[in-house]
Amino acid sequence: MEVILSVPFSYDAGGEVRRLLEDFRDMVNFCISFALERRITSYARLRKGVYGEWKKRWDYSTHFCHSACKIALAILKSWRRRIRRGEAKSEKPVARKLFMQLDPQLYRFYGGRIRISVKPRKFLFIDLKYGEYQRRFIDAWREGSLRTGEITMNKTKIIVPFKKEVDLSNPRDWIAIDINESNITAVSSNPHILRVDNNLRTIHTAYFNIIRRIQRLKRHKPKTAQKLLKKYSGRRKRRVMDECHKISKKIVEFAKKHNMGIIMEDLKGVRKNIHYGRMLNRRLHSWNFRKLQSYIEYKAKLNSLPVEYVNPKNTSSLCPTCGGRLAPKGHRLLKCRCGYEDDRDVTACLNLLRMRGAPLPPKALNEAKAERERIVIKSQLSDNGYLPSR
Ligand SMILES: [Zn+2]
Repeated sequence: MEVILSVPFSYDAGGEVRRLLEDFRDMVNFCISFALERRITSYARLRKGVYGEWKKRWDYSTHFCHSACKIALAILKSWRRRIRRGEAKSEKPVARKLFMQLDPQLYRFYGGRIRISVKPRKFLFIDLKYGEYQRRFIDAWREGSLRTGEITMNKTKIIVPFKKEVDLSNPRDWIAIDINESNITAVSSNPHILRVDNNLRTIHTAYFNIIRRIQRLKRHKPKTAQKLLKKYSGRRKRRVMDECHKISKKIVEFAKKHNMGIIMEDLKGVRKNIHYGRMLNRRLHSWNFRKLQSYIEYKAKLNSLPVEYVNPKNTSSLCPTCGGRLAPKGHRLLKCRCGYEDDRDVTACLNLLRMRGAPLPPKALNEAKAERERIVIKSQLSDNGYLPSR
């Protein structure tokens, strides 16, 4: 199967790139008008119809015409859908943002550089800025294990999709991962228990408080508040993403070392269907567990490890060994009449293993000599120095 990872690179759009982006936007708007006036919805007809006039107006490579037609039709399609739902006005849609999609025939990727074919024998070279994260993709691309697909660029970023063909292995074992707001636990049948201590909760609490303080400032200094809000929301997002990358990396490294497939909870709809208290709700919504799952999934697949999702229903209320109802015992412990006893997170993982049909560890894990490992992800929060005082 093919795994695609979209990797953003920053760049400085010089005058020429800027002009190209503006011209491309004009081309898209031209195609939109053309298609609307003649009620064209098919790509082939629009391409054929528009070409003569397009050629008169612009002297770019023909591929830009294809790309503009494609984007114009996509904009029209979503505009019609919004009209059907009553979400858009009937005035014709206009492309306002500067952005462009280029298929592999229009650009060439050189690792740290991109060459765009503007017209026959005329090229634009763009230097990409990249950090450690992007560099790993470039290295893998140089070795030939990744291919690049259609790139998207706007005035600050170029997004390069890297494609990899992977054969998912037949794993020796399975490891189930329970993600909850304070900790992440993984249990496998061989048996291993892995705890990943992380800072997601601390990050969210810290930024929740920061943002609340900024909102109080809004009444007196709306402009300052808006500026601060933008700054700190962006910073929170980057911290959370960074943390999710670290966590998923540790988990996948562990699974890879022991050749294990990954089982996770199918959390689609969980946030919609359950009415939590207000505080918990806020944390769940800001917490991005789907993002963490998707990071684990693509990192696993890049390492040829299969990933499966199972329904998380009853994973923390039924006994994983006999199926009986569990009773709470103290703070986070659960016990069963059959003698099973372990904490909530381990229990949830064992139930995920059971639902996948993976073998369970021989005995209750607190009796068996499960190999318990703890991974601590360190990071520090240092935002408080710059805050508006209360
Ligand atoms: Zn039991």
